[in-house]
Amino acid sequence: MAKPDILMLTPMRPLVEKTLAQHVTLHRFWDAPDKEKLLSDVGPRITGIVSFVASCPRSLIEKLPKLEIIATSAVGYDGIDVKAAAERGIVVTNTPDVLTDEVADLTLGLLLATVREIPRAEKYLRDGQWPKGPYHLTATLRGRKAGIIGLGRIGKAIAERLEGFGTQISYHGRRKQADVAYPYFPSVAELAKAVDVLIAIMPGGADTKHLIGAAEFEALGPNGIFINVARGSVVDETALIAALKSGKILAAGLDVFENEPNVPAELIALPNTVLLPHVASASVYTRDEMAQLAVDNLLAWLAGKPPLTPVPETPSPR
Ligand code: NDP
Repeated sequence: MAKPDILMLTPMRPLVEKTLAQHVTLHRFWDAPDKEKLLSDVGPRITGIVSFVASCPRSLIEKLPKLEIIATSAVGYDGIDVKAAAERGIVVTNTPDVLTDEVADLTLGLLLATVREIPRAEKYLRDGQWPKGPYHLTATLRGRKAGIIGLGRIGKAIAERLEGFGTQISYHGRRKQADVAYPYFPSVAELAKAVDVLIAIMPGGADTKHLIGAAEFEALGPNGIFINVARGSVVDETALIAALKSGKILAAGLDVFENEPNVPAELIALPNTVLLPHVASASVYTRDEMAQLAVDNLLAWLAGKPPLTPVPETPSPR
């Protein structure tokens, strides 16, 4: 029997191609010299997509009439048109849980780096400035209150770690969670007013676009630290730059940006930012766990079984 044809949208961890090669015919979309030709040649036969974080718009889904499953190796799937997938009964799977601790660890690292200016202090030493005098005193995490936007799997793992630092925690989401004791705030602005560390870790996409803007930074105030490990789209970046420049907030630690991998020169020039190239889950260990789960989802489906981790918008028909 012919192996199923699977479209691989992006480069992935080596284990993906190695494992899938035994079971499927893989077509490397990102590598194709003529993508339109690849789609017209094999598009009618493609039954599955596998990818790392990728854009999978309606226009691509429409070119794949036999598509049954999109297995992404990421927990966030805002780049995939799940509505278009749901309309066709296509299952989308993501990789929850396996990256939760890694992302939460990085978030704490980014927070500490931002509050205590760790990258700048290290640069000071490397630049030979130390013999001229000690590095200036910094802000502190002591006594701070943190507000988490998106108290889901990762948000809760961040909260657990923050408790270890003695930080008080509050949260915002679309609804109050009955089994959570932390104070709930029905809007981001109200949460920002009550805290001096604001951490974004909710999904991206249309529902959360620019949820954090000028009014929220105003509410966070001049001692406020903003940390974004969610998606660049959740913040009005122009308002963030203005708030950082004017001292409306103290500093920001950012792992994600509106137009990745392009980061505004203004953000790079600001001394009160710590900027990372979207690395929250980017350890070999965790990226392999994510890749393995994407493979397991795809193989389960191809074997006629239910997928392991379908997203809520496209529940498994099996
Ligand atoms: P979960 O689904 O477990 O949690 C998401 C949380 O966001 C929930 O608590 C949900 O609460 C809240 N939420 C959803 N929609 C909204 C909204 N419109 N407004 C406010 N809150 C909202 O997901 P995870 O914790 O596993 O992952 C969260 C996100 O983190 C991912 O979607 C991804 O974008 C980002 N991420 C970033 C990484 C990076 O590399 N920087 C790595 C991994 C994840 P409620 O339903 O009550 O609103």
